[in-house]
Amino acid sequence: MTASHEQSFPEIRDAVRRLCAGFPGEYWRALDRERRYPTEFVQTLTREGFLSVLIPEEYGGSGLGLTAATAVLEEIHRSGSNGGACHAQMYTMGVILKHGSQEQKEAYLPKIASGELRLQAFGVTEPTAGTDTTRISTFAKRAGDKYVVNGQKIWISRAEHSDLMVLLCRTTPREETRKPSDGMSVLLVDMREAVGNGLTIRPVRTMLNHATTELFFDNLEVPAANLVGEEGKGFKYILDGMNAERILIAAECVGDGRFFIDRASAYAKDRNVFGRPIGANQGVQFPIARAYVAVTSAALMVSHAADLFEAGQPCGTEANMAKLAASEASWAAADMCIQTHGGFGFAEEYDIERKFRETRLYQVAPISTNLILSHVATHVLGLPKSF
Ligand SMILES: Cc1cc2nc3c(=O)[nH]c(=O)nc-3n(C[C@H](O)[C@H](O)[C@H](O)COP(=O)(O)OP(=O)(O)OC[C@H]3O[C@@H](n4cnc5c(N)ncnc54)[C@H](O)[C@@H]3O)c2cc1C
Repeated sequence: MTASHEQSFPEIRDAVRRLCAGFPGEYWRALDRERRYPTEFVQTLTREGFLSVLIPEEYGGSGLGLTAATAVLEEIHRSGSNGGACHAQMYTMGVILKHGSQEQKEAYLPKIASGELRLQAFGVTEPTAGTDTTRISTFAKRAGDKYVVNGQKIWISRAEHSDLMVLLCRTTPREETRKPSDGMSVLLVDMREAVGNGLTIRPVRTMLNHATTELFFDNLEVPAANLVGEEGKGFKYILDGMNAERILIAAECVGDGRFFIDRASAYAKDRNVFGRPIGANQGVQFPIARAYVAVTSAALMVSHAADLFEAGQPCGTEANMAKLAASEASWAAADMCIQTHGGFGFAEEYDIERKFRETRLYQVAPISTNLILSHVATHVLGLPKSF
């Protein structure tokens, strides 16, 4: 494809493609079968500096903007790989960078940039709160120079493959706050010390290979020095980071969409039925063309949202819209790709069914489609609030 937005960071895109060529379909299929974590892939990306593009140069990163990061993740996904195992290493540190103390930045950011510290876990979701984050009940009670944490989290990805976790918890009960979003705080949990000392991790087997887990906190002690920013303001800090996350995940969807279009186009040219390539039939070529239109349009929205983010402008609505457009486009492209492949779309060795399962996630996580529509309806269009 030759759309102009694809020209951004051509060297980075090219380097990522070459790196991913070393991790072909067989690699991902074997991991998928055994639900293993792609340690070698993540280590290689780290070593080559692709996961530290957003960390400023003074802290050892390459100090590039979000557009560079979208290029990395889009190409990973277009290559048939999956960035879900590592994307959080790129942006979770944003909460330290934007809201951490100077000591915290100096202590953590250079080590995150070099990969010595993995900051891959981001603990927000709870089983009883669902999308209504103000209802979280994991509680951190201050006791002298530490916090004592009790509660439970669900769907915390990569917790077993991370040295640190950014944890959102209540420090004031919801009933005692002025606004429901007050009274939550961000703690940096050192997983190496926490596991077995108040933190238990239980893997959750899912439809796709995502290393996601359930966490149980039972009097886990976290040094008070690990509080990020001010106590009680954590929700705002987490919201800040979510725009970056949504834009980056939208870029992964664009990559998935392009993967499906590439594969479907190649197959439709190659596969002969009734004495001609199936792609000569408009019934086969139009869905591919439609997917191309949708994915290209979504890519422009992603690029626009990333530009706003980089310029430091408000981009909540655009990040949401990019994520919705891209996740729906990639899912439609996945469906088209299976259909184009006929029976072979279901065969493991084509990687289509794996990518189909993988891309489905993004209409639910990190934020589900309904919640985005609700944001657009009420915040942009001024329709009455439903909750
Ligand atoms: C594989 C995987 C990895 C994940 N990784 C992480 C992670 O690392 N860290 C983390 O914190 N979380 C993670 N999540 C959680 C994810 O962000 C949530 O699953 C997602 O935000 C949806 O929340 P929920 O599952 O609680 O759904 P619910 O809030 O229970 O919603 C269920 C359904 O109801 C709809 N709904 C709810 N309320 C409304 C409403 N008012 N109007 C209309 N529709 C509504 C939703 O859109 C959704 O379709 C992960 C999830 C998965 C599946």
